[in-house]
Amino acid sequence: MKLSTALIHRHNIKDPSGAVMSPLIMATTFERNEDQLTMPQGYLYSRYDNPNKNALEHKIAEMEGGAACISFASGLAAATAIFQSLKSGDHIVMADDTYFSMRTIVHTLYAGFGLSYTLADFTNPVALRQAIQPNTKLLWMESPSNPSIKVTDIKAIVEIAREHGCITVADNTWATPFYTRPLDLGVDIVLHSTTKYFGGHSDILGGALVFKENNEKTVFIKKVQCYGGAVPSPFDCWLLCRSLTTFTARMAIHSANAMKLARFLEKEPKIERVLYPGLPSHPQHAIAARQMKGGYGGMLSVLVKGGRENALKLCSLLQLFTHATSLGGVESLIEHRKSTEGPDSVTPDNLLRISVGIEAVEDLIKDFKQALKLL
Ligand SMILES: *Cc1c(COP(=O)(O)O)cnc(C)c1O
Repeated sequence: MKLSTALIHRHNIKDPSGAVMSPLIMATTFERNEDQLTMPQGYLYSRYDNPNKNALEHKIAEMEGGAACISFASGLAAATAIFQSLKSGDHIVMADDTYFSMRTIVHTLYAGFGLSYTLADFTNPVALRQAIQPNTKLLWMESPSNPSIKVTDIKAIVEIAREHGCITVADNTWATPFYTRPLDLGVDIVLHSTTKYFGGHSDILGGALVFKENNEKTVFIKKVQCYGGAVPSPFDCWLLCRSLTTFTARMAIHSANAMKLARFLEKEPKIERVLYPGLPSHPQHAIAARQMKGGYGGMLSVLVKGGRENALKLCSLLQLFTHATSLGGVESLIEHRKSTEGPDSVTPDNLLRISVGIEAVEDLIKDFKQALKLL
């Protein structure tokens, strides 16, 4: 069954009323059998599991081709559960432009517990090998990356990880399984901020981990969630399942719009550079063409001529692109990323990150035309 059909028809909750769509079950606790220990449907208490969370996890596992999925209250709660599954003295190597909060979590929350990390350029295997230490347990990648849109050769990273006995995590929030399936390329754990393309409407916060195998690590991370409590609410899970029914339709438009906008912007004299994996000018276009299937996603970054001042001015001249952080919603957003990331950001001062929505692309291009004319 194709993904678009599966996301509509599989892993739904049958309601006794005959309702065509899954019901929302808000209950926190579930009735037990007479033995007081077993539960008729396997549900005990909502911090462990509930029907809407379970339905969502089955859908996401199928999207990524994983053996198991755990959904979380946010993308960062999902990331934190991975860090919590490591031990004091363990070391992580992260791509140098990994979503900046990942670094923040490790150095503010876990440095005191003996976790350490090194940043490396994952597009350079020599640099990556040099960053790996005897106590390195995890390689953390993101492709395309945020916000410099670097594309990582996932298979090559997995090979390096295997040589050193490390597990691999791929943050697949940007590419989504519609364009890249890291587990098929050998990655152990895929991370999602479901807040983004899975939710698709900028109104749900959530995260998920998808595991290649249902092994000891998976079981331990499930415990981290059960005891730590970073669970999504049944309502958020229900809403996400609803969003996923239109996921494949939305993704195709995000990507087609981004490609057209990138091509338009690349010809504009006031734009210094457009970073989009679908453009032949992108440094890792060849890897992207091989690794990303059927399109290049909805995210792009532009470097504006005239530095920070012009970048900020361009943002404020745009009328359709809302000036806000985040991504993956139906609406187009633009963001001066360095301002969001704060003082230790390595993002260029003239970089604007654009989340291309599913509006008519003619309107998006027209908006840039009028803004660039006034710049
Ligand atoms: C937004 C984002 C996250 C964090 O997810 P939250 O749902 O905001 O906690 C992690 N990784 C990437 C690539 C993101 O874009």
